[in-house]
Amino acid sequence: MKVTFLGTGTSQGVPIIGSTHPVCLSENPKDKRLRVSVLVEWNSHNILIDCGPDFRLQMLANKVSHIDAILYTHEHNDHTIGLDDIRPYFFRQGDIPIYAHKRVLDSLKKRFDYIFESENKYPGSPGVKVNEIQNETFKFKDFDIIPVNVMHNRLQVFGFRLKDFVYLTDVKTIEKEEVEKLRGVKVLVINALRREPHHSHFNLEEALEFIREVNPERAYLTHISHQLGFHEEVQAELPENVFLAYDNLKIEL
Ligand SMILES: [Zn+2]
Repeated sequence: MKVTFLGTGTSQGVPIIGSTHPVCLSENPKDKRLRVSVLVEWNSHNILIDCGPDFRLQMLANKVSHIDAILYTHEHNDHTIGLDDIRPYFFRQGDIPIYAHKRVLDSLKKRFDYIFESENKYPGSPGVKVNEIQNETFKFKDFDIIPVNVMHNRLQVFGFRLKDFVYLTDVKTIEKEEVEKLRGVKVLVINALRREPHHSHFNLEEALEFIREVNPERAYLTHISHQLGFHEEVQAELPENVFLAYDNLKIEL
């Protein structure tokens, strides 16, 4: 399994438009963060988690030739608004399978009504194959994908476990029985927004505490704001099995 971090930034991305914050002015490519998404390559199947506003650039940067599934964590704009740009994949492959909670599907149907149209659909608009998921293991091809329920303040969000890899984003709280699903995981990805507390995201301290609880072999931090600090400085103070993810980082497991 190969995982590519397509984007590791918070909702506005880093740099923020017009910002003169030192991290936004940094010339280190690791301080430039597109909106969060990962690509999981599993036995040559390409599984995308989330499809935000930077989707097109992310696909071009990583020369992604096909998409076999899109898993959605939740409906916030930074995780969903790239859906129209699946068109090149749709033209080559046909309807693209998407997997999401019913509430997220309803939100996508509102924003992208033309994609879900069944009659008089505009030729050229993309098509999707809808898969509604609940908090239960589901099959993709021969693989089991385990949703993990987390809370983004009061909004339910799905994380996903794919074998020994877990991707969780936009977490503020998580129930004990959901943490149980993470036992024995090798790689954990978890959000860490900044140092200061936030109403709907783990800060760095909360993320590190959660990593100690789950105890994976390695952990990667994502959904990062410019307020967290310079990549190199933050990385230097992390425990040895914890890494600050950065855009286009590829890992294997
Ligand atoms: Zn988000």
